[in-house]
Amino acid sequence: MNMLAPSPGRIPLLRLEGIGRFYGGADLPTAALQDVNLEICEGEFVAIIGPSGSGKSTLLNILGLLDRASDGKYSINGADVSRMAEKQRDWLRSRMFGFVFQASHVIVDESSARNAALGLRVQGVRHVERELEVTKALLRVGLLHRAGVLGKNLSGGERQRLALARALATKPRILFADEPTGNLDSVNTQSVIADLKALNRTGVTIVVITHDPIVAAAADRQIVIDDGRLEKPEALGSPALAAVHEHMGGRPDPTEALSPTSLWRRLNLLMDDVCDALASLTSRAGKALLLILAFMLGSGGLVASVGLSQSASAQVSERLAEAALDEVQASRSPSGVQPANADIAALRGQKGKIEDLHGVVAVGLRVELATSEFRPTRFQPNRGIQEDDFAGSLLAVDSTFLDISQAVVEPASALALLDNSFGKPVAILGHDTAARLGIPSVGPGQKIWIGGQPVPVVGIVQQPGRNPVLADSIILGISAYPSTASDNPLFVVRTLPGFPAPLADVIPLALDAAHPEHFTVNTVADLRSLRKGVNNDLGLLISVISWLLLALACLSAATSMYLTVQTRRSEIALRRALGMSRSSIGRMFIFEGLLVGLGGGLAGGALGVLGVLAFCLSQQWTPVLGPEAVWTGVAAGAVTGVLSATYPAIAASKADPAQAIRA
Ligand code: ADP
Ligand code: MG
Repeated sequence: MNMLAPSPGRIPLLRLEGIGRFYGGADLPTAALQDVNLEICEGEFVAIIGPSGSGKSTLLNILGLLDRASDGKYSINGADVSRMAEKQRDWLRSRMFGFVFQASHVIVDESSARNAALGLRVQGVRHVERELEVTKALLRVGLLHRAGVLGKNLSGGERQRLALARALATKPRILFADEPTGNLDSVNTQSVIADLKALNRTGVTIVVITHDPIVAAAADRQIVIDDGRLEKPEALGSPALAAVHEHMGGRPDPTEALSPTSLWRRLNLLMDDVCDALASLTSRAGKALLLILAFMLGSGGLVASVGLSQSASAQVSERLAEAALDEVQASRSPSGVQPANADIAALRGQKGKIEDLHGVVAVGLRVELATSEFRPTRFQPNRGIQEDDFAGSLLAVDSTFLDISQAVVEPASALALLDNSFGKPVAILGHDTAARLGIPSVGPGQKIWIGGQPVPVVGIVQQPGRNPVLADSIILGISAYPSTASDNPLFVVRTLPGFPAPLADVIPLALDAAHPEHFTVNTVADLRSLRKGVNNDLGLLISVISWLLLALACLSAATSMYLTVQTRRSEIALRRALGMSRSSIGRMFIFEGLLVGLGGGLAGGALGVLGVLAFCLSQQWTPVLGPEAVWTGVAAGAVTGVLSATYPAIAASKADPAQAIRA
């Protein structure tokens, strides 16, 4: 053992002056290191030995820029560390230092080759170059044949050799090893010692912490530490001398090389971040899939809500556009005086007046009856069978109304019965109503009860034509249900194309020349805003639910990712130790969130489109789905994905490498 102090002729690469490290509050500080003076020169192989808890790891963490001293001055190649920015410290750890810890901190879900490349990935080295260096490093530690094996399938000795290869691949100037053989048997210990010695012979400075005398004996110099103090305080070379050395040294300041990062390197780093995010997602595929599913439901609903309201309003506009050409509806104004004799004959008279006008093709009559008054049921009332209240429309119409609605009624003879049922009421059912009441087809004995009277069912509306409400209606003949004072009969007028506007002016005059204001005429344009409003309400409801789903997806992704950050503490610490910047760490998680959200958004987009198509098909609508609907889903997924990752990313980037690396 030679306890050589550094000879004055050599320049100290690392220089500690009065270094102290205190833990605990300011009122009760406990010293892990105290008044440490130490110089380590380029090319040395130094062992630091001492009992457990003596401060060895603390010292190494300060030397390796994983921790900051509370006291004293630490300079690297003459540059004061306390004046360095975080970025410079990251750069030094990445470019100048190599680390091997007691726990190998191998990433268990990644291959040996990918593990060995981690330091180079942090540096943003190109893929081809990276592969070459990794191959050399693995060959050197005898692990090349295990390059494709996952970290979790390596033995303890192999993992530690892999950690060494990871450090070697970056060609560090100084290698820090904290109990590298602490978990190894004697055979593996010997191989690690041999590796360290060989490395030292190539000029790499080695600082190894150990309590194993065999490892310590391999070093040029042993430094004993006990209770935070060096056992044999070292005499530092005089600062004046160091300054002279610095002056004539011509050795570049390590921090000078901190050049601005090139675009290419940045791109490489970005690609690696994306790859890291992908790798971490695929290694937890089940969980990732669940999260993607959650985002998919949210964005899918969003796409569907936009698509459905687009399709619905297109559908309505189509109908309205059609109707605007050839339809007018006339009814009594609220202010209009109710004629005492509003019987069917009077209505027919008014209808005839409209029919006589030029441009009128046909006039249908329609009265909406109050279901509360007529109480339509399937079963005779008072027989103890309870039924849900009928929610559809109860209409009294003439056959012309069904004709101009282009409704298809089976059997066709039912239309004639509607107008002339010899004073006895008959009913035609919309097909939805028929299905609900359990009347599959027309036949003898099929009847319903209206206002306590049995009414035979004579037909079923198979297709509602231009009047969708007919599908869910009970239709009675208007002659059997003359309008009462509270009803307001509606004249639905089919016109020649282009006639609705002029007829709208003429019809009130034709009905009552003295008081045309007693009648109101609606052209379809008046109805448009109302129908649109209804559709927008539906779309709004679906989109509110979708946003809620997305918020839930976001929350569960955030929770799951936060938990992941906790379980990956040691990996994050390792990346920080290897010089990955805080922002890169954060970015890695942001990318993870982005990928999950984007995946969910894309799947949701597809799901939403399919949903809209299926719905429109079932409704016989023309599906309308602008590209913006799909983009909304994808963008919403991506944005919420990134949002979910924000807090976990911040938490990860704040991790303290010195703390986590001890574990
Ligand atoms: P060694 O590596 O020699 O076993 P360490 O450097 O890990 O010892 O620890 C030196 C002393 O500092 C120990 O007493 C330890 O309990 C204390 N110590 C280390 N880290 C912390 C910390 N984060 N907070 C409080 N005390 C700490
Ligand atoms: Mg230790």
